[in-house]
Amino acid sequence: MQKPLIVVTRRIHFEALQKLNELGDLKIWEGDGPIDPITFAAWLKTADACLTMLTDRVDELALSQAPHLKIVSNMAVGYDNFDLKAATARHIMMTNTPDVLTEATAELTWALILALMRNIVPARDDLLAGKWTTWRPDGFLGTEVSGKTLGIVGLGRIGRAVARRAFAFNMPVIAWARDGRATIEERIPRAARSQFLARADVVTLHVPLTPQTYHLVDKDWLKAMKPSAFLINTARGGVVDEIALKSALDRNELAGAALDVFAQEPVDARHPLASHPRVLATPHIGSATNETRKAMALRAVANIRAALSGHVPPDLLNPDSLLSNG
Ligand code: NAP
Repeated sequence: MQKPLIVVTRRIHFEALQKLNELGDLKIWEGDGPIDPITFAAWLKTADACLTMLTDRVDELALSQAPHLKIVSNMAVGYDNFDLKAATARHIMMTNTPDVLTEATAELTWALILALMRNIVPARDDLLAGKWTTWRPDGFLGTEVSGKTLGIVGLGRIGRAVARRAFAFNMPVIAWARDGRATIEERIPRAARSQFLARADVVTLHVPLTPQTYHLVDKDWLKAMKPSAFLINTARGGVVDEIALKSALDRNELAGAALDVFAQEPVDARHPLASHPRVLATPHIGSATNETRKAMALRAVANIRAALSGHVPPDLLNPDSLLSNG
């Protein structure tokens, strides 16, 4: 019997590749950057399964050229690179890798909060530039996190993991109630937008990018934040209107921002936000730990294994893809 063909769009952890190798023949994109759309489409023509990265657009055009494809397994929890509707219509299963990257992304969020508020990067740059000549009573004064209010937008897996750590830093936590209803859960009061933004000293974003969350943080949102507040985005760049954020920073409407994600990635050193003096930018490294990237790769493989052996993948995003036409 012919073995299934599995397309892998980046070289991933070797243990995951070993496991995939037991499931079928592999076609691995070895390029340094993402697979180009023409090669991707050509490879999909004969593929039974595909393991993708968040940098791969899996849309109607790509799926329409993949007659044997059973599953696309994203090595990410976010799946805004997928056209779920198109896949469901073609009975193609789509999966992601939740949970395994929650702690790593929460840790990065905290690294950014602390580094931004305590001026770690400018202080290090100054030292390396040979400018540390004396201890100064007014040198690199930052904002103390203790006692400040942390505002969570998207109290899901990562949002909750960020909240748990806040209590250790002596920060009260509030969450944005998108339906406007004030409630309390797990020591975290939910507040409607105006009260939420009036109270939060740090606003941290953990919603997925969807049509509903696109430019959620716009001019009005930023205007309603405290001028002393900080914005942290480790979710997706599209959640923030970047032009509005730059002008809010230029007009001192907020104190600073830390951004791990951008609307168009990658960005270069001249990007108006990445290079802004009050922005701390990182190159989309939320899940970038050895432990987590390995766990993500293994979880993406487990989804492919299930699909190819006739089982429902544990992280199936579109259960309707299993419905038959008749
Ligand atoms: P999750 O558990 O699904 O949490 C998402 C939260 O957002 C949920 O609380 C959800 O509320 C809320 N939400 C969804 N749509 C919303 C809307 N329209 N308005 C307001 N709230 C909404 O997801 P997660 O595992 O925490 O991951 C969150 C996101 O982080 C991912 O989608 C991904 O884009 C991003 N991420 C980035 C990195 C990185 O490298 N920087 C790494 C990992 C993840 P309900 O439960 O009520 O729907």
